[in-house]
Amino acid sequence: TARVIDGKATASRVLEWVTARASELERAGTRPGIAVVIVGDDPASKVYVASKARAAEACGFHSITHRLPDATAQADLLALVGQLNGDPAIHGILVQLPLPGQLDASRVIGAISPEKDIDGFHALNAGRLWSGGGSDAFVPCTPAGAMLLIEQVHGRELAGLEAVVVGRSNIVGKPMAALLLAANATVAVAHSRTRDLREVCRRADILVAAVGRPRLIEGDWIKPGATVIDVGINRVEAPELGDGRTKLVGDVDYAAAVDVAGAATPVPGGVGPMTIAMLMANTLASAARSVGLATPRFAAGANVL
Ligand code: NAD
Repeated sequence: TARVIDGKATASRVLEWVTARASELERAGTRPGIAVVIVGDDPASKVYVASKARAAEACGFHSITHRLPDATAQADLLALVGQLNGDPAIHGILVQLPLPGQLDASRVIGAISPEKDIDGFHALNAGRLWSGGGSDAFVPCTPAGAMLLIEQVHGRELAGLEAVVVGRSNIVGKPMAALLLAANATVAVAHSRTRDLREVCRRADILVAAVGRPRLIEGDWIKPGATVIDVGINRVEAPELGDGRTKLVGDVDYAAAVDVAGAATPVPGGVGPMTIAMLMANTLASAARSVGLATPRFAAGANVL
């Protein structure tokens, strides 16, 4: 059976490391600061924003949350972003997505200073990632976290390995492909229009699923011994837990995958906890850079499972 890739434990190691570096930085006169902006009251977004603020405080960061009403005008949101861009106590700005319909998310993200874009969604950071301008790019947190989990199995060098990413979103699939490519894997990106997804997946030494379809990827889609990284988070009914109960599952049929794969991430407890940890690491990096220090980098290490 597959080795379980423990995202929760890895995320804790990252957060401990961030906390230690943050306190060194604060002693040298710079306390990392993060601003989280939430517009409206989408329940899932509220939960995410609260846990980001909690993590920031646990790391010793200065943290503020701006809660704006659902009917906020674009100009008002842009004005707040502009104010945060100019605030020297803030090193990372995060606008929680999705935004209400009257707001243009790409314009809002484009207004965030690329130097404070800890989500890595600004076009300049996406461009830096794809053009190898690596050290200054903010890398989107979920794929960055997935790479640390892959590093624990394979190390940082993926030459000779075939990687398949299922999903091509700007938030997960595309940056994931860029990171795998930068690590010298041979990369294919599959998506909703891919023909014979099963055959494409079966080629993968490293299979990353970022789709949002519960248990789309079946056991016989997985190459024996492959590393399977499941980014999907799907809420499904769980009658076995009692009437009306639900639970979270990934895009991979985990119970089937563990019989075939060499290593696999569970859901929950795999990629999920890594996202917030990497967000904190990006904020730390931004604070260090703001005073001219080199970007601190966490190394997961190979074969530590
Ligand atoms: P998205 O909806 O933006 O993109 C989904 C992608 O899957 C699309 O590119 C689409 O082409 C592809 N797709 C859809 N149906 C398909 C099919 N039947 N076969 C093959 N490809 C198909 O989603 P996203 O934002 O990239 O998120 C994907 C999943 O990852 C979701 O379950 C989301 O909840 C989860 N997610 C988790 C984290 C985290 O762990 N912290 C962060 C972001 C997203």
